[in-house]
Amino acid sequence: MMPATHGNAGQNNAIICLGCWDQMHVPIPIRGPLALPFRAFGITRSKMNPNICERAFRYVKKQNHVTSNATILFADIRGFTTLSERMDPVRLSNLVRIFHDRCAQAIWAHDGIVNKQMGDGLMAIFNFPIRIADHASAAIMAARDIQEHCTEALDSLKSNLDGLPDHLLGVGVGIHTGDVEIGEFSSFRSDFTAIGGAVNLAARLESQAGVGEILISPATAALATELAAGTEARMLQLKGIEHQVAAQVLLKR
Ligand SMILES: [Zn+2]
Repeated sequence: MMPATHGNAGQNNAIICLGCWDQMHVPIPIRGPLALPFRAFGITRSKMNPNICERAFRYVKKQNHVTSNATILFADIRGFTTLSERMDPVRLSNLVRIFHDRCAQAIWAHDGIVNKQMGDGLMAIFNFPIRIADHASAAIMAARDIQEHCTEALDSLKSNLDGLPDHLLGVGVGIHTGDVEIGEFSSFRSDFTAIGGAVNLAARLESQAGVGEILISPATAALATELAAGTEARMLQLKGIEHQVAAQVLLKR
């Protein structure tokens, strides 16, 4: 019998790769004594999520790319340009490190992967390669954890920044759920990612999120009714998107 792969969200301690199990039903040991011989053959834990191995994406590589329903999350440090003008580079890099560290912990706790890190921002995917029944809610819960944990960390830095307005130092998050193409879209480097209109919409929402805000699309809100209940709606005209989008705004707790 295989151990249950899920139900232990929040702990980075899976014994077998959750990605390989969900995608191919292959048990690949990634922790414990059984993992040692596998490690000798180069099977290592992925930097995108410590509960999966780097081979979890092999399933996709074989098929070139796959279409998957997924929830995409973008987060970044708001006002980063202003910050970078006021902070010395060492302190600034410390802040970015704290941001990425807190975000990754929150995303992994809800079985997502940190797919890309871009300076002061990142992109996460929920529902691939680890399957999540309610990936819209998982992404929202990760976003809440991001806001909570980043605020704690950033507040401790604030005292060092003379006269920095409150609305400048914080994190914005955008979330959207839809079909995406998952695969490697580069012929010269290994660059597994998700592409498609759904990814763009999540990125656009994030660009409109203020400090402490989580903007979720109507599609995500419709799937995560409990978490979206009672939240403020905000009409947004997003770049490259014809119609206005009624985003739901979740605020930092
Ligand atoms: Zn794996």
